[in-house]
Amino acid sequence: QLYNQIQETKGNIRVFCRCRPLSREESSNGCATVVDFDAAKDGDLGVLTGGSNKRTFKFDRVYTPKDGQVDVFADASPLVVSVLDGYNVCIFAYGQTGTGKTFTMEGPEHNRGVNYRTLEQLFSVARERSDAFTYNLSVSVLEVYNEQIRDLLATSPASKKLEIKQTSEGSHHVPGIVEAKVDNINDVWSVLQAGSNARAVGSNNVNEHSSRSHCILCIMVKTKNLMNGECTKSKLWLVDLAGSERLAKTDAQGERLKEAQNINKSLSALGDVIYALATKSSHIPYRNSKLTHLLQDSLGGDSKTLMFVQISPSEHDLSETLSSLNFATRVR
Ligand code: ADP
Ligand code: MG
Repeated sequence: QLYNQIQETKGNIRVFCRCRPLSREESSNGCATVVDFDAAKDGDLGVLTGGSNKRTFKFDRVYTPKDGQVDVFADASPLVVSVLDGYNVCIFAYGQTGTGKTFTMEGPEHNRGVNYRTLEQLFSVARERSDAFTYNLSVSVLEVYNEQIRDLLATSPASKKLEIKQTSEGSHHVPGIVEAKVDNINDVWSVLQAGSNARAVGSNNVNEHSSRSHCILCIMVKTKNLMNGECTKSKLWLVDLAGSERLAKTDAQGERLKEAQNINKSLSALGDVIYALATKSSHIPYRNSKLTHLLQDSLGGDSKTLMFVQISPSEHDLSETLSSLNFATRVR
């Protein structure tokens, strides 16, 4: 009985592993690769841990450096479309800085990632279903940095501190947050631009800042069934998580140390929540971080979760790679 329940919940959690290619610099330095993709088709990833030792990690999918944005989106697509059927969905990119989280979620302009392809797909499926349903889509762009929520679409940047509130029906929301209505993919593009411009404001190094904060795109869908007039709401969260690397204790002081502790805290809180859901724990510790609290309605129940675990193939990143793979094993 318990086993079946676990299987059921697990049915709503998928973990995909994606390995980036060696960078040009790594290749020209003759950097060795420690991952093997011999059984990638079966969802097995091999990691050479030294000497002749090899560990194998099991995933729902493994993407090699040769797999492109289209391959990745093909597998994520059924999940994102389910938001139009009324499901809440969360997609996360987890991993060490420099392993391709932003590449997978945002992607470069000429080779876009999951975020843009998701919205494109939602508009296209909504159009196909327009005889039976009307869909209203809006998006919010948020950042969680040092356990504070920032609205990247707010016109006055430091307006007020955003807090998570619970409605009388028990759902969670952030009062005052900008929800930009989007009618087509061109609207989306300008909203995403506005979000990333806002992200740069107030940080001397945008890349560094973004590796220390969680960047969140929330797509809200209002569905009206034209046959019976019934209206439903659902949400899709696309989260580019802060870098999972462990800072050496001696390096971190002051502001850096605080950042590192907050990142640690929120990533382990996320792992704890997913683990508690997968094992049907009676207590799901949503309140342990802003991120899990914010996503509470979309984690658990009949919500669907997809986690991309991003890794580097380089021997120099082996210990961070193993730590990411261990995190993934726990939530899967
Ligand atoms: P993160 O967001 O995890 O810090 P990035 O997405 O910024 O990592 O990726 C780091 C670098 O690696 C970037 O230059 C990016 O273009 C490149 N990269 C990551 N994944 C891939 C991939 N699958 N194919 C090609 N280049 C990639
Ligand atoms: Mg990034």
